[in-house]
Amino acid sequence: MSTGATSSHLLLRLRDTMAEATEGQERLNKIVSLIAGSLGTEVCSIYLRREDRKLELCATEGLSAEAVHQTVMGRGEGLVGRVAEKAKAINTQDASNTRGFSYKVETGEELYNGFCGVPIQRLGRVTGVLVVQTLDARLFTADEVAALEIVAIVLAEMTELGAFVAESGGAMSAPHQRPLLIRGVVGQDGVAEGTVFLHNPNVTVVNPVADDPGFEKQRLDTAFQALDKDLSRLGGRRSDLDDDTRDILETFESFSKDRGFRRRLDKDIDGGLSAEAAVEIEQSRVRARMQKISDPYIRERMADIDDLSNRLLRHLVGVDQAGAQDLPDNAVLVARNLGPAELLEYGRKIKAVVLSEGSVGSHAAIVARAWSIPLVIQAKSIHFEARNGDRILVDGEQGLAHLRPDESVAKAFGDKIAMSQKTAARYAEMRELPAVTQDGIRIKIHMNAGLIVDLPSLQPSGAEGVGLFRTELQFLTRQSVPKRSQMADLYSYVMDAAGNKPVTFRTLDIGSDKVLPFMQATDEPNPAMGWRAIRMGLDRQKLLKMQIQCLLRGAKGRNLRVMFPFVAQRSEFDQAKAIFEDTLATHINFRHLAPKSTLLGAMLETPSLAYAPDAFFQNVDFISVGGNDLKQFFFAADRENERVRRRYDTLNTSYLSFLSHIMNRCQLHGTPASFCGEDAGRPLEALAFAAMGFRFLSMRPASIGAVKHLLRQVKLNEINDVISKSMDAGDQSVRRALVDHLSKAGITYHGSAH
Ligand code: PEP
Ligand code: MG
Repeated sequence: MSTGATSSHLLLRLRDTMAEATEGQERLNKIVSLIAGSLGTEVCSIYLRREDRKLELCATEGLSAEAVHQTVMGRGEGLVGRVAEKAKAINTQDASNTRGFSYKVETGEELYNGFCGVPIQRLGRVTGVLVVQTLDARLFTADEVAALEIVAIVLAEMTELGAFVAESGGAMSAPHQRPLLIRGVVGQDGVAEGTVFLHNPNVTVVNPVADDPGFEKQRLDTAFQALDKDLSRLGGRRSDLDDDTRDILETFESFSKDRGFRRRLDKDIDGGLSAEAAVEIEQSRVRARMQKISDPYIRERMADIDDLSNRLLRHLVGVDQAGAQDLPDNAVLVARNLGPAELLEYGRKIKAVVLSEGSVGSHAAIVARAWSIPLVIQAKSIHFEARNGDRILVDGEQGLAHLRPDESVAKAFGDKIAMSQKTAARYAEMRELPAVTQDGIRIKIHMNAGLIVDLPSLQPSGAEGVGLFRTELQFLTRQSVPKRSQMADLYSYVMDAAGNKPVTFRTLDIGSDKVLPFMQATDEPNPAMGWRAIRMGLDRQKLLKMQIQCLLRGAKGRNLRVMFPFVAQRSEFDQAKAIFEDTLATHINFRHLAPKSTLLGAMLETPSLAYAPDAFFQNVDFISVGGNDLKQFFFAADRENERVRRRYDTLNTSYLSFLSHIMNRCQLHGTPASFCGEDAGRPLEALAFAAMGFRFLSMRPASIGAVKHLLRQVKLNEINDVISKSMDAGDQSVRRALVDHLSKAGITYHGSAH
């Protein structure tokens, strides 16, 4: 029998079973006997995955009935476990001699030789295993395996829809209803309670089976046409397209014209699947491949295909993509991953963000931090588990998300929220107090900002100025280059809002993960080390000049502080300074009001600049250490890659020695220096930077209270001693020594993961 005939016949009977008003267990029992009957096998069993990822035998035709709900396979255990772990079929005529075989006495399966197991999977996630076994040493044909795979897809959809829910619980408890604690990584501390709002939710396929392949293919054609229209509407004239849209368009073209792709969809439809189920199975295949590919370019293309499959599915089932306008009150944004522009588009109404992937160093995380909303990253599979409208508690202090919490958890969490509000109130009381250590060292604390909405935090946070204004953030939300007047107005507004507090504007730091929607993105193998920031500014001087003009206009005769990002060698600063002075001269020639004073600085974000000639340190008016980039280049550890980023402690003695070297050079030449990377906002790190000589720290507003609270309790000369001793003792990091010292001294502080 061909795949089509085998599976479509079976699928139609499955659909009937699904439509019957039976209970989950009975339904499963019927299905296994249907499959065994139709393939002529003595055994058919369904194993479903439990919460602990173990596989539970949930129904069987042929194996011992007592084993149902008793037999549980550990991760990777036996042939069944291997099918799940590898997400790949195993087909053998000699099961007991096949690698990985393990025998469960209670099932009585030692009699069977032929074995074919296929994963029950949805969107690249294995939720169970479907197995058929025979007494004969039978190898299943390719068509039979393919038919089983299609049946397994339908089983996956049925599981998702809750068709197999039974009182037995375990693997058969209702999906997406249980309370779930998902452990992730701290992206931004803080606690919040809210309602899940899914960014790009997966479409659930309600009708996976169809009996008229011709009609399904027609539906697919119509959906492809609608998608095509979407993309040309997005596109307009191809030459006008931004790179992202063009990329999607091109991927789409190759994907819709790829005969193999269409052939696979048609084949699955002939096998009895509905058009949407066929698209979803193809999407699952893409995701399964994606997980194995490390090349970032190819992964990205596959992510495009994934995105296109989602669009296609939306057309097939007729749902629109929700946007910022649909946000409920108390929305907690849940996504697989998120770019800074997407987050900015949702706006500040968001209470918290939880990502399945994501990284602390990404700019989406920086935006979340600037907004002081709790962020949990690497919360594995949250975007599969959560449903729109679910209640969620986000614990950004421990990197936890409680999904659909039970009342006892919710109550304890309520206490935690109250505690955190209390701490905030205590910090607020210190707002007007300076950050002075017990031995009289004064540290100036500034805040980082990038958007108008950040500015209201200036006053309540107690920041003494804006130490880093990331001008590119404002660009990320727009579809076109802002007009000069808009930019000048913005800078003027920022200075107005700061009153007499200083603001340090950083010129555009575009590139790396900050790709502007309206700029041609260049395909670079390693964008963080690529054509970005001042490198782009010096090659595209028009944009840099225009921004400087806007800053000069926005200053309206006030003091102006500007710094250039990512300066790696002296000449880059000199050139940028020359462009600034040239633009200033023109500004004055046109009889515009000149700033009262101008100070030009460089961000020190590459180790090379720490060894620049003395003339560099004499020529800059100030430097600001961008620790996010500096640390990634110092340790050669991508700030966005959680696997490597967390290996290297900021309090590592090599890194602290390096920072101390930078400070020595600055002190030698009288160059003012600040530290404005994210680490400045972590109390222990801030303390160590102060000990290395930094007297200016710039951080997100929400961290100011905690940092000031700690600084005001310590004697900096004691901290210096602790660090020196720890370094002399050959410690890799001074963290332990600092923590011990503070604890012995009875000094409390707000802990936070590095
Ligand atoms: C830094 O690198 O520390 C920095 C402040 O710049 P950004 O995070 O915007 O790259
Ligand atoms: Mg940087």
